[in-house]
Amino acid sequence: MSDFETNTKTVDVLIIGAGPSGTVAASILHEKGYKVHIVEKQKFPRFVIGESLLPRCMENFKKANLIEAIEANHFQKKFGAKFVSEVENCDFEFANQFTKGWGWTWQVQRADFDKVLADEVVKRGIALDYETEVTAVEFEDDGSSTTTVKNKDSEYHIKARHIVDASGYGKVLPRLLDLERPSDLPSRTSIFCHVKPKQVSDSPERMRIIIIVHSDNVWGWIIPFSDGTSSIGMVGDTEEMNKTTGTMEEQMRQWIANDKALRERFTDSEFIFEPRKITGYSSDVTQLHGKGYVLTGNASGFLDPVFSSGVTLATESGAKAAELVAEELDGNVVDWDKSYSQHLKDGTKVFKAFIEAWYRGDLQKIFFSKNPNEKIKSQICSVLAGYVWDKENPFVTKPERLLVNLAQLVG
Ligand code: FAD
Repeated sequence: MSDFETNTKTVDVLIIGAGPSGTVAASILHEKGYKVHIVEKQKFPRFVIGESLLPRCMENFKKANLIEAIEANHFQKKFGAKFVSEVENCDFEFANQFTKGWGWTWQVQRADFDKVLADEVVKRGIALDYETEVTAVEFEDDGSSTTTVKNKDSEYHIKARHIVDASGYGKVLPRLLDLERPSDLPSRTSIFCHVKPKQVSDSPERMRIIIIVHSDNVWGWIIPFSDGTSSIGMVGDTEEMNKTTGTMEEQMRQWIANDKALRERFTDSEFIFEPRKITGYSSDVTQLHGKGYVLTGNASGFLDPVFSSGVTLATESGAKAAELVAEELDGNVVDWDKSYSQHLKDGTKVFKAFIEAWYRGDLQKIFFSKNPNEKIKSQICSVLAGYVWDKENPFVTKPERLLVNLAQLVG
């Protein structure tokens, strides 16, 4: 046997990245009988931002048969979203949404949550190599590939019939195949950390994300966790976000002091880690699939944190990709443009319309309007719950037009 052969594993599907997109895809493919191998650059548990889930992603965890494993870990249940300004507030209960679907989900420390998912797929017999990084990929004409990976001790190869790139912010295939393109959303900045308040509140407020309208171009989040700690963050125009000075901790303390919602809850709170600041996280790609590969989750692009769409789109794309890869490996012809790209673009378009309406200030006008129409509120609630493929909902079929008109009407 040559060195190449002894150093080569042969699988049906190689999955790059063990975040929620990768583990959902892996679980579905494994249950369909395919040999799956995951490579993950980091050692778990590892920190990643993206802690407030949406009810719609529960459908994907269910498809992947992962709900029970998550439930056993007692993450904070989330039943809604509350928008607050200095003087106003607006509460959405997912149970009151227009679309028939899940009325709740979780708020999770992603280090623990992603490890629960990864441990579960390993328990089911899926190979997962940690601290192993993809360095090169070569595709044959039939779409099969040989991927070179390395860990701290060695380099080896993985021959696969298909690749699911779920590498998140690593964007492995977009970088290797030159598929990246800039997002058409402006580059913004976020500073965030986990805090331990002096007094843990047990009010029902714990069971929702709080989104703070801080000023015209800065907003913030509070995401309570089941252990009494919370994730807090501020997001806005980079210029505005860089007006705070000093160490990361000093900058975060300035935000807490200057924002009513944060000041009331977190003055003198202990920081669990040094706050982190990131800029320019929105991203896009020129294509979502090619012969022998599909991009899922953040590797396929990322919009904006404001409506917590990230994990929902990551698990939706992971689940959809897994189903289509299985169909193709079964010998069926798959129309990837229609069944994959169009499906994802349909959902992304709705979130994007809401994100743009948020940064225009239209949604704030709608949320804080007096005497809201309950039916309209329930339709908007469904989008906030992640049900962005429900064609019965007019805020899914024509979101831009409705949001502009409604903001004019209430404003
Ligand atoms: P990830 O969870 O990032 O997993 C990808 C994995 O791939 C990582 O573990 C990484 O180590 C691995 N990897 C990378 N490169 C390689 C390589 N070369 N080889 C092997 N493995 C590799 N989303 C929400 O749903 N709710 C929120 O509240 C929310 N808040 C956010 C706040 C901010 C400020 C930002 C910027 C984003 C937020 N998001 C949120 C989005 C969320 O972070 C992502 O959408 C989500 O984590 C994507 O999941 P994923 O599985 O695609 O990628």
